[in-house]
Amino acid sequence: MHLTELRIAGFKSFVDPQEVPILPGLTGIVGPNGCGKSNLLEALRWAMGASSAKAMRGGEMDDLIFSGSQARPARELAEVTLVLDNSARTAPPEFNASDTLEIMRRLKRGAGSTYKLNGRTVRGKDIQLIFADASTGANSPSLVRQGQISELIGSKPQNRRRILEEAAGISGLNTRRHEAELK
Ligand code: ATP
Ligand code: MG
Repeated sequence: MHLTELRIAGFKSFVDPQEVPILPGLTGIVGPNGCGKSNLLEALRWAMGASSAKAMRGGEMDDLIFSGSQARPARELAEVTLVLDNSARTAPPEFNASDTLEIMRRLKRGAGSTYKLNGRTVRGKDIQLIFADASTGANSPSLVRQGQISELIGSKPQNRRRILEEAAGISGLNTRRHEAELK
């Protein structure tokens, strides 16, 4: 499974709908200060199921919606879609019927967020598991946040272990184990 496109509309500074193709290999985002580089990465992480204030740079969830500028009114809706190539058919069995997965997360001001997978309403947990099984996700070390390298150098051994587990591809199993233990 790999990410082929990010679509974004009404999310933070990305007011108009944009489609960002993502090619195989390493992707870098460059541009002047404040142009929206971190916002793009945040959109990716949010659509993967991130919700904690820390993951989303603090504040309320509604702060993710375009808040208006001198020239344009605020929006009521933020939408991020991730397009995944699933031609290798490695998605979890319940979502593995098609070559392309479109994961959409939509936030309405004052009404919280919902997820859709290929048009079908799903839980945030379903989305998180798809990425955890693929050894990636909102907290994956393959998405390097601003300031994260210095954070890592000073982090506790338990946190470093989590990164090694991601690299070893067992974090999906851990998530499923936690879910099973809770039942
Ligand atoms: P740097 O190089 O300094 O790290 P960056 O390219 O990562 O910059 P971002 O942090 O992604 O920049 O974008 C910051 C911009 O996004 C600011 O101009 C801020 O006003 C704008 N912004 C953040 N949230 C919203 C929002 N809800 N509505 C409109 N604009 C927003
Ligand atoms: Mg930044």
